[in-house]
Amino acid sequence: MKLIYPILPDGRFKALTLSFDDGRVQDRRLVTLLNRCGIKATFNLNSGEQGENRIPLCEYAPLYAGHEIAAHGVRHPGMTAAPLPLAAQQVLEDRRALEHHTQAPVRGFAYPYGEVNAAVAAMLPALGIRYARTTQDTGRFDFPQDWLHWDPTCHIFNDLAYHGGKFLSRTGLRKPMLLYVWGHSYELDENNGWTLLEDFCRRLGGQTDIWYATNIEIYDYRQACARLEFSADADRVYNPSCRDCWLYVDGQTVRAAAGQTTSL
Ligand SMILES: [Zn+2]
Repeated sequence: MKLIYPILPDGRFKALTLSFDDGRVQDRRLVTLLNRCGIKATFNLNSGEQGENRIPLCEYAPLYAGHEIAAHGVRHPGMTAAPLPLAAQQVLEDRRALEHHTQAPVRGFAYPYGEVNAAVAAMLPALGIRYARTTQDTGRFDFPQDWLHWDPTCHIFNDLAYHGGKFLSRTGLRKPMLLYVWGHSYELDENNGWTLLEDFCRRLGGQTDIWYATNIEIYDYRQACARLEFSADADRVYNPSCRDCWLYVDGQTVRAAAGQTTSL
């Protein structure tokens, strides 16, 4: 019997994504650093929280170009503390306002304060949200089983250098792995944060075997992989989606071309 796993675009086995919340002015320095190192991030923004320490709405599109803009509630609401219909309104209105500036559908969300319960998670798909990030560090390199409870690997101050080194040192992989780092750019002003993150980006950036992706790019790619249809004896795969998917097949890398049936 063949051993088959979906892997990452262009036959890679490693993906790196970062996620930063609240849209503070330190995002400017952060985006410059990420762009220099070719690393992609998702920025979770509160469209109704404006002030001198926040990135103004009119700057969203040019500043975050090439990265993902995701929702974080208009006023940074505690989603389990707020009445549910009002929590829903905070999500939908944030999407609407962000989309007005980005000119693209906003489909990601990060739970403010990490607050989530079953009722909150269950309503998000009806509000157009496809994935939502928690604040529960796993210390692992796995992909989420439940996209509405997407637990990151580590916070920027939770052994970042250790997790980065461990991720880089893994070789001979069969299954794909994901390093997911989250935080707030304003936190970097304390505790030697900028030096720490600059070191991390220098080490992790520019690697040919790493896929640098935003959260929604990972979601979309994994959804395409989840739609692959395999023949019963695993000698063919049909890819009904509009994007190529890659597979590990007994030590070989196979591209399952978009809209095609591919022999394995
Ligand atoms: Zn926040």
